[in-house]
Amino acid sequence: MISIDIKQVTKKFGSVTALDDVTLRVEPGELFFLLGPSGCGKTTLLRSIAGFYVPEAGSIHFDQDDVTRLPPHKRNTGMMFQSYALWPHMTVEKNLAFGLEERKVPKAEIRERVAEALASVKMEDYGDRRTAQLSGGQQQRVALARALVVRPRCLLLDEPLSNLDAKLRLEMRLEIRRVCKSFGLTAIYVTHDQKEALSISDRMAILERGRIAQIGTPGEVYRRPRSKVVADFIGETNFIEGVVAGREQDCLVVKTELGMFHGYPGDADWRPATDEPVTLSVRPECWRLSHGEHLEGPNGIKGQVGEAVYLGEVAQYRFACQGQQLKIFELNPQEDIQASDVIREARVEPRDVVVLPR
Ligand code: ATP
Repeated sequence: MISIDIKQVTKKFGSVTALDDVTLRVEPGELFFLLGPSGCGKTTLLRSIAGFYVPEAGSIHFDQDDVTRLPPHKRNTGMMFQSYALWPHMTVEKNLAFGLEERKVPKAEIRERVAEALASVKMEDYGDRRTAQLSGGQQQRVALARALVVRPRCLLLDEPLSNLDAKLRLEMRLEIRRVCKSFGLTAIYVTHDQKEALSISDRMAILERGRIAQIGTPGEVYRRPRSKVVADFIGETNFIEGVVAGREQDCLVVKTELGMFHGYPGDADWRPATDEPVTLSVRPECWRLSHGEHLEGPNGIKGQVGEAVYLGEVAQYRFACQGQQLKIFELNPQEDIQASDVIREARVEPRDVVVLPR
């Protein structure tokens, strides 16, 4: 197991700064995700770690080794890239053996390592098949085995599941986590799919225009986003604009057009001043919606359900309040609520109101 240390890395393409002073440490054995809007620099960072790009400034370390200027084939990383296709005319075994033959590994050892890698992804019975004769999921397993067969120091994955249908993606993402953990591999995984990241990552970094916007566990990033970009990118949310009206210990009181709200800053160290403009982020599932009864507690608003979609385990409402349209999700709904003019109450606990810089 190795740590991967990115220290103040800057990478430019002409006038575009793809990575801007990025510092990040991935702990040994961690499954770490890079996420963010298109063009934020995820792939550039992964390719810099793999050795395909040399940054203009900063350094990259595998444990104590400075690998910043080491060519890709000397870094001993296992790679599973979207564009890293298997050779369709070769057998599965040959696909795996190829890289080892190039490294002049003895034949007997190649056989042993190929068998071991195929067994680790449960494909030991498919060694002599041509890869073109495999299903999408099986091909993906072979691609993973090919990344493992070199006994890499770390695993780098760039959208490895993007060609699979939804059901296979679910299965393969768990498989990738299982394999990483059983090999004790430090892995960095780039994806657009936030569910993939929330479900299997140990920690994640959200990038924004070449900079790190936030690093944390899935729960930290989802529940305590530090900026609007992060709150908006991970999951669904409601933004409500306001200004700081006061403070009660760590709790902020915020005046909005919907009324007064009590909430907590996404960044516990951030202390906005009175009258400072802020934005509140409230996840749709954090609201309680009244079915006619009075709801106790703070942070109450009044409005009307404008659109109701029943999905079984959850009902999704559009809630019109003071000209704003909020999303409210009710888990395990016990009673249908239809769109109507009935004035209803909705409330949210202060801990679920995240106060963010505007
Ligand atoms: P996506 O989610 O769309 O794959 P990304 O987060 O992986 O995006 P990168 O591919 O790292 O983003 O690109 C970061 C920035 O650098 C973008 O503005 C992109 O246009 C630019 N860029 C990336 N590769 C090159 C290149 N080879 N030449 C010039 N510009 C590049």
